Amino acid sequence: MIYFDNASTTKISQLGLDTYQDISLNCFFNCSSLHKGGVKASKHLEWARTTILNCINGAFNDTLIFCSGATEANNMALWGLIKKGARVLTSVGEHPSVYNTAKALNADIEVDYVPLNEFGQVDIECYKEMWNKNNYDFVSIMYVNNETGAINDVGQLCDIAKSKNSACIFHSDCVQAFGKIDVQVDNLGVDSISISAHKINGPKGIGVLYVKNGLRFKPNIYGGGQEKGLRSGTENLPAIVAFAKVAEDKCANMKSNYQKVKDIKNKIIEIFDASNFEYKINGSNPYSPYILSVSLKGVKGEVLLHKLEMDDILVGTGSACSSKSSDNRILSAMGDTKEQIMGNIRLSFCPENTVDEATVVANKIIEYTNYLRSL
Ligand code: PMP
Repeated sequence: MIYFDNASTTKISQLGLDTYQDISLNCFFNCSSLHKGGVKASKHLEWARTTILNCINGAFNDTLIFCSGATEANNMALWGLIKKGARVLTSVGEHPSVYNTAKALNADIEVDYVPLNEFGQVDIECYKEMWNKNNYDFVSIMYVNNETGAINDVGQLCDIAKSKNSACIFHSDCVQAFGKIDVQVDNLGVDSISISAHKINGPKGIGVLYVKNGLRFKPNIYGGGQEKGLRSGTENLPAIVAFAKVAEDKCANMKSNYQKVKDIKNKIIEIFDASNFEYKINGSNPYSPYILSVSLKGVKGEVLLHKLEMDDILVGTGSACSSKSSDNRILSAMGDTKEQIMGNIRLSFCPENTVDEATVVANKIIEYTNYLRSL
């Protein structure tokens, strides 16, 4: 099988699985228990916290709140950091866990949405203009778009926000960036970020919200007071420690992994170009080499996906999270036509993929697209 749908989820790595199993069998204790098992478990928990904090260059007194994934982390950020009556700025390109949460915020919170440019980034001129007209208390802009791989200049966006309102809280969904491109909270200047383990070959159902020291965070889940009372519930220690192990590994090998997936993405583009093949890439520089979104005129992306599937090649159309809807908010915002949206497939890679796989997939896409176009 060739799996090119890694932006939706990845296969757990052997390191992640071994760690998960080891903790499940040998340190299954409750981190809150007072006996020696609990003490050992809580040491693992704090090791995982420090390890992930180091990966993002957080300060020792910043907060990391473990939770069920980035959907929850984004929800926690918006519900927990936005104050009553605040004015919020986000983008039309956000993942549904930010976009739909922003829509669901209390009626006294006004939310504006900055548009995207044709390359998939937040339109910086519009962003500045919106700041000139309004004073925002909270901004949420993602780092790497999950559908196109387009990279936002989060550092610059954050600088602009802080220069207009130093008290503004800046949150960034870093799910498709973490472990792939450098995410350093101090360099970016952000106040909070969300990350998810299953996008970097970690287990599913575990993520984290980073919150800068000193910010007032209102918990959304009450209970036994775990995670310093910010997110109650018995900690999923096997998943948390496995998350930290794979995060450490991804961050240590970031450069070589980056080159591997870049070669894969470039190979596909090279083959397309060499065969006089009509296609359009959605999202462009700067973009992540981990994602390649293409639109193929005269073809339904879903039909192509199922043709490829018969050869054991798994790809995506748009994002798995929004595949239920026939429209595509992100591609529409970039100015794609209905036909381009219909003809969209998303290929997304992980370092375990190979250039040989890229060659097979590119040639199959050309073959099937030509066939479908000829019907
Ligand atoms: N944000 C982005 C950019 C994503 O790609 C995803 C996963 N599709 C999420 C948030 C949600 O993450 P999780 O699956 O861990 O809830």
